[in-house]
Amino acid sequence: MELRVLVDKCSGCGTCETTCPFGAIVVRAAVAVVLDSCVDCGACIDACPENALMLGSQAEGGARLEDYRHVWVFAEQRDGTLTRVAEQLMCKARDLADALGARAEAVLLGHQVESLAETLVWDGADTVYLAEDPRLAHYRTEPYTRVLADLIRERRPEIVLFGATVIGRDLAPRVSQRLHTGLTADCTALDIDESERLLLQTRPAFGGNVMATIVCPMHRPQMATVRPGVMVARPPDPSRQGSIQRVPVRLEPQDLRVVVREVVKGARRRADLETARIIVSGGRGLGNPAGFALLEDLAAALGGEVGASRAAVDAGWIGQDHQVGQTGKTVHPDMYVACGISGAIQHQAGMKEAKFIVAINKDASAPIFRIADVGIVGDLYQVVPEVIREVRAAKAGSIV
Ligand SMILES: Cc1cc2nc3c(=O)[nH]c(=O)nc-3n(C[C@H](O)[C@H](O)[C@H](O)COP(=O)(O)OP(=O)(O)OC[C@H]3O[C@@H](n4cnc5c(N)ncnc54)[C@H](O)[C@@H]3O)c2cc1C
Repeated sequence: MELRVLVDKCSGCGTCETTCPFGAIVVRAAVAVVLDSCVDCGACIDACPENALMLGSQAEGGARLEDYRHVWVFAEQRDGTLTRVAEQLMCKARDLADALGARAEAVLLGHQVESLAETLVWDGADTVYLAEDPRLAHYRTEPYTRVLADLIRERRPEIVLFGATVIGRDLAPRVSQRLHTGLTADCTALDIDESERLLLQTRPAFGGNVMATIVCPMHRPQMATVRPGVMVARPPDPSRQGSIQRVPVRLEPQDLRVVVREVVKGARRRADLETARIIVSGGRGLGNPAGFALLEDLAAALGGEVGASRAAVDAGWIGQDHQVGQTGKTVHPDMYVACGISGAIQHQAGMKEAKFIVAINKDASAPIFRIADVGIVGDLYQVVPEVIREVRAAKAGSIV
């Protein structure tokens, strides 16, 4: 039998701490935490005014922190295709698990998706938990939450990572709420404090003016969402071996209240900025939406995609899926051409990892020039047509 804390009931009053003859229970961040020196004498159970302490199997959700092991990734798939962020996170989970001396594991939910499990192993998973059921074919909040939360309760991973996609942003908070643990959204970096086995979750805060590193010391699992494109996927290693474990899908009628009758896909092509090798981005300096037609010409000449600053998106000149930056996409192209963009810190947050940055701006003191490899001070409406002409001429084989 082990002493367990019912975190829902614990008020952090400290009665247990003062009662314990062994100094084996302490209050941290308003919750009692049982230390290894506990001998399960039960003195604190009798003293607790909230009935928040129990022995062993009586407790529900009161496992010790050290009962949780291994690093999980929610392997998001759509229509039987693994999302890129799932592969990026799998590679990151591998690194985190190695730092902890733990296993990297994936949870794959869906219908007829078993073939994806191998890819996850190649990306770094030691185990893939596979939950297949026709009712999981399309993402729905309740059934996915039920299956994932039950599996986490049963297997107790110490870390669970999600992509900060539409689905991940819906699912992760539900799961964390059911498990009464914390969730850090939109992380831009993850690391491990090996001595405390803590996940160091870094994300911009206060409008991007500071980078905050957040930890979840009292609850498990430690949960985070990470934006697509922030972590870099390594090439898959087909020589890697891992196990695939099928897990039962137990759903209650109340999990199935939402019925998906039809999935209608939008015809609009979405900007594929996360994988683009060249991105030509426009900002407020374009002055009007028509300016993006010019940037599309340049992007087409270079074989790239069109991105934008938030100012341009907020002005309604281009769709939100083109936005680069802290609240947009994080990109890693070989070349990023910033046209009429000042280079605010929130914009840089999404593009500063580009291998080569070209900035075109008529203000020589614009911050974008500080991170640019090539800076052109001038009016973009004069510079960009000239660049297009040069690129087209070079492609045609005759530089004029
Ligand atoms: C919480 C938060 C999140 C944010 N997230 C993002 C984000 O994800 N992405 C993002 O981009 N921003 C984001 N922002 C906004 C950010 O702070 C800036 O306001 C924004 O990036 C400015 O966009 P811009 O550079 O296009 O506009 P401006 O800062 O107005 O710069 C326009 C530039 O165009 C130049 N210019 C003007 N005319 C011409 C011309 N004819 N030729 C050449 N140059 C010209 C000017 O010299 C100027 O440097 C966020 C802000 C906050 C508070």
